Amino acid sequence: MKINDNYLRLKESYLFSIIARKVTEYKGANPGKEVVSLGIGDVTLPLAPVVVEAMQNAVLEMGKAETFRGYAPEQGYSFLRKTIAAYYAAKGVELSEGEVFVSDGAKSDLGNILDIFSTENTVLIPDPVYPVYVDTNIMAGRNIVYLDGSEANNFLPLPDWNIKADIIYLCSPNNPTGAVYSMEQLAEWVAYAREHNSVILFDSAYEAFIQDKALPTSIYQIDGARECAIEFCSLSKTAGFTGIRCGYTVVPMDLVRGGTPLNKLWLRRQTTKFNGVAYIVQRGAEAVFTPEGLRQTKASVEYYMENARMIAETLTDLGIWFTGGKNSPYIWLKCPGGLSSWEFFDMLLEKCGIVGTPGAGFGRNGEGFFRLTAFGSRENVIRAMERLESGQPW
Ligand code: PLP
Repeated sequence: MKINDNYLRLKESYLFSIIARKVTEYKGANPGKEVVSLGIGDVTLPLAPVVVEAMQNAVLEMGKAETFRGYAPEQGYSFLRKTIAAYYAAKGVELSEGEVFVSDGAKSDLGNILDIFSTENTVLIPDPVYPVYVDTNIMAGRNIVYLDGSEANNFLPLPDWNIKADIIYLCSPNNPTGAVYSMEQLAEWVAYAREHNSVILFDSAYEAFIQDKALPTSIYQIDGARECAIEFCSLSKTAGFTGIRCGYTVVPMDLVRGGTPLNKLWLRRQTTKFNGVAYIVQRGAEAVFTPEGLRQTKASVEYYMENARMIAETLTDLGIWFTGGKNSPYIWLKCPGGLSSWEFFDMLLEKCGIVGTPGAGFGRNGEGFFRLTAFGSRENVIRAMERLESGQPW
């Protein structure tokens, strides 16, 4: 018996446990001093009322013999797939119901999609990055090439045509950097992928946070993307579904590799290894896309974006370089005074009682940078920004 010893090559992730330990130590040493967290990557506002009502109705249906439902279709109920296709149509993207796969969230699908690709593929992953892309490929033993995000390219790396990559991860708006690719930049990626016969795995989990109408909210808004990209999206941040669990993945029929439509492979993978998302959850998800649901969830997004705007404004006043905050709930700042990510973390906690996330936890190129998030309460953001403006400990 042999284990998959690729797992032994994974780096232990101590990031959030070290943060938790440091905060506990600080609180122990400074009783009565209040800590404000701008490090949180989870939503804090409750579900929209229309979503709650839809799920309540679905629960009642499940309690009656006439409307009870057992196993859901693995790809999602038709009512939700059609609703998601209509959501895309409103952004000018035509999708058929069969191209939409409902899931229990983007994280699962981002990991599971790798089942349909050979482990011999070379994977291109931007750095800094959402760690799931890296770890899932290490688990499978794939060769990873990193693409440098930096202050010079505003953390929006473009293709290096000399590198041959088979699978490319793009996340826009980006976690952790908050940076968003423009239409032209994404078009360059699509051109690269088509030329090299690669597949782009496009993570649009934060698309609902894009405010600038000129920026793409789906890679399929770029001509030719249907033949080279799979898109992953989630209701986690859009509609507060982090605990409810629902996302969707789009695999266009036109995406063919090795003579086989990838839609067919993904359908086979899902029907074999996945048993669908709960009916109650899918009714809640459907409600998100109704006019009233879109209005109510947009109000939450706007609340977070006002937080982001306030953080960005303070950083601008303080002359601190940053990306994000305008079309994304993440703000990625350059640690002032040449401090390392962890030095800045310690200083912010000690002097201002503010907690953020050291950029070094998101890859080599994250060193010297720091992530703040807009998912906290308005009161906390105001308090934290006042402390930053008056403290400026660096
Ligand atoms: N993709 C990115 C970039 C994320 O930041 C997250 C969650 O933080 C996810 C995907 C996972 O989303 P879900 O909750 O749908 O699994």
